[in-house]
Amino acid sequence: MMRTAFVWDESFATGLPEMDGQHRELVNLFNGLGLALFVHGVQDEGPLADAFDRLLRYTESHFAEEEALMRRMALDPRFIASHLAAHTQFVEHLQAIWGQRASLPDLRVTLTDFLTSWMALHILGADQSLARQVRAVEQGRTPAQAFEDEGEPRDAGTRVLTQLVTRLYNALISQNRQLALANQQLEERVAERTRALEEANQALRAMVRTDGLLGIANRAHFDERIEQACSLAWRQERHVGLLMIDLDHFKRYNDWYGHRQGDICLQVVVRAVAGVLKRDTDLLARYGGEELVVVLPDTDREGSVAVAERVLQAVRALQLNHADSPVAPYVTVSIGVCSRVPAPADPSRGGSGAAGLIACADEALYRAKGAGRDRSVLAEKAVKFQAVA
Ligand code: GH3
Ligand code: MG
Ligand code: MG
Repeated sequence: MMRTAFVWDESFATGLPEMDGQHRELVNLFNGLGLALFVHGVQDEGPLADAFDRLLRYTESHFAEEEALMRRMALDPRFIASHLAAHTQFVEHLQAIWGQRASLPDLRVTLTDFLTSWMALHILGADQSLARQVRAVEQGRTPAQAFEDEGEPRDAGTRVLTQLVTRLYNALISQNRQLALANQQLEERVAERTRALEEANQALRAMVRTDGLLGIANRAHFDERIEQACSLAWRQERHVGLLMIDLDHFKRYNDWYGHRQGDICLQVVVRAVAGVLKRDTDLLARYGGEELVVVLPDTDREGSVAVAERVLQAVRALQLNHADSPVAPYVTVSIGVCSRVPAPADPSRGGSGAAGLIACADEALYRAKGAGRDRSVLAEKAVKFQAVA
């Protein structure tokens, strides 16, 4: 049901035909806005904004005419001042409600209640008084007398009641305004907290995927990315290359130089490895301990071996002392290389072929170690379609 449409009552008539005509037009515009709210709802801004604009513009021109009339009749300045203040307050409050429309729980009720009660009060109070003073001045009273007559207890019941309701009404307006302000501040605080939380979440997500010591992707992130890379490559029938890199005789390094120096050595090696990777899609991760992996999407056997050779060179070039290494007087790595179009052991079970690829590179690494370390070994083609779950 449509709520609180303003119904014109003869007690609203002031007896000033022009003013009564304008009040009737205002009532029509109030009801028009109420109707726009009822028909279109708050979501459809177009018709609503139009109705609101029309109402605001008409209100302002009507107020201007009333104010001109008061001045023309030279009504008492005290009355003019209070009447003007009421007009200003109305426009301010109407705009405040409009500005808050997004956060008001029921804009329709708030607006129509405000409009209808303000209109009734204002006409019954200030405008009727205006009309009476105009008539009194026309009949020869001075404006001051006319104003002071208004204080006389003529129709005392209505007068007292109107004053009382006006006071209540003003209290309500100021409460509403405070509530709207509090509401807005609350929304701003919530938005701020949401932003902070979002940032913290992002930092947390990055942290969860990163190895604390080496600052590269951790094992969990690698597991996720290799699955993705393999699924995609399998569908597109493209190669995925995988390097498994292991530091040579690293236990001896730790024993000789201490664990802390071992950590630093690992960090330096990781930086060198990261430095040879060219594509954004390549992923360097810590597989565990002193073992690193590099995922090379869309990279064939030849390309993968080339990357492995660059890694070997870059680590050698660091010339990090390793006095206890039987391989070289400096730190070296061994690399197992595998590249293939991923072949899921059992695609119906949702496998991606990642496990097969990892096993293949691991096996090649084992052979690089066996062949004397400080080298890369490419997995034999024979293991390509070995079924590994
Ligand atoms: P190989 O050439 O056969 O790989 O010999 P290795 O000594 O490197 O192999 P092994 O797997 O026996 O030892 C790996 C060593 O790497 C043992 C472990 O203490 C060390 N290590 C693993 N992770 C870290 C780490 O984060 N920091 C340090 N300092 N050492 C690590
Ligand atoms: Mg090792
Ligand atoms: Mg190892």
